Amino acid sequence: MSFMNKAWGATSPEKTEPITITRRAPDDQDVGIDIKFAGICHSDIHTVRSEWGKTTYPLVVGHEIAGIVSAVGKNVTKFKIGDHVGVGCMVNSCRQCENCHDGEEQYCFSGTVFTYNSKDPKDGTITQGGYSQHVVVDQAFVLKVPESIPLDKAAPLMCAGITLYSPLNHWKAGPGKRVGIIGFGGLGHMGVKLAKALGSEVTVFSQTNSKKELGLRLGADDYVATSDPDVFSKLSRKFDLIINTVSASIPLEMYLSCLRRDGSLVQVGAPEKPLLISPFSLDAQRVGLHGSMIGGIAETQKMLDLCGEKLIFPEIEIIPASYIDEAYERVLKSQVKFRFVIDISTM
Ligand code: NAP
Ligand code: ZN
Ligand code: ZN
Repeated sequence: MSFMNKAWGATSPEKTEPITITRRAPDDQDVGIDIKFAGICHSDIHTVRSEWGKTTYPLVVGHEIAGIVSAVGKNVTKFKIGDHVGVGCMVNSCRQCENCHDGEEQYCFSGTVFTYNSKDPKDGTITQGGYSQHVVVDQAFVLKVPESIPLDKAAPLMCAGITLYSPLNHWKAGPGKRVGIIGFGGLGHMGVKLAKALGSEVTVFSQTNSKKELGLRLGADDYVATSDPDVFSKLSRKFDLIINTVSASIPLEMYLSCLRRDGSLVQVGAPEKPLLISPFSLDAQRVGLHGSMIGGIAETQKMLDLCGEKLIFPEIEIIPASYIDEAYERVLKSQVKFRFVIDISTM
């Protein structure tokens, strides 16, 4: 039997408000989760505002979900009632294609089923995200939250954490590697913490120096304001890897000029508008421009276990559901240090 639960949904690009949604009853493979906390990712805002194409309203966004298992289907072996768990950006995939086999479900050839605004193959509905009291997810897409991570701080790891961990891991950030992080927001601050934990030297490129002290305190070795044009000549050809987390379309030339020969610039920011680059900025020094989307389920679990072991947590501000629209405005003005997390009990 499906059941109703309270949620906070976007009813138009301008507004979120309380709504009621229906969740399917857990099938044999499903885990029912009482959601305790949900992070606000900038992707939620892009989606609510229909910046990435057509959003189906009303829509409940939220893909940084942390909660407690409240029900398990009869074939569920990985979880039991009472376990602390998380759900990130995906809730299913084909599990048969080459990418799914390789543990890269986020690149499923048949189409990853995202946590919201996707068609759910299990019941044909449009998936609804984590700004809600409950969610029902196949056990294969549920993550274990290590005991050492409080649930409120676990939530942002489900997207911001893995989105930075995956490229750091793939491009082998570690001792002796110099990493640059562009944009010191929700994703960016996790990039600093994770790159440091992996042993790299980290520089933040922010628009201003307003968060510099905090950046250095959170582990950055250097922090520069891109409003100062001299920054780019000083950092010329310095980095092995630069990850761009900026939510707007910014010119990349100057950052590409900061890469060493064969260095990589990885675009994770997903602005509405295209990026413009000159081919010469890639040809010079044979540098690469890549993209990266979240990370696979096994990789996400690996990141969570690392965060649990090394006590790497996001910096969060807990808010009631009624504050979501205001929180969005503050995210757009870069006025959050560094992730809003909704306390679902306020729903
Ligand atoms: P966020 O907290 O708003 O951080 C973005 C940061 O970018 C801001 O804090 C700001 O940093 C900088 N910024 C914003 N506007 C700028 C502008 N016009 N020019 C230069 N810098 C600007 O957002 P987030 O949650 O970290 O997400 C960032 C982006 O990644 C979004 O586009 C989101 O959709 C995308 N995303 C992608 C993936 C993926 O899998 N690829 C996953 C999650 C999110 P400073 O204040 O330091 O300048
Ligand atoms: Zn996200
Ligand atoms: Zn697949």
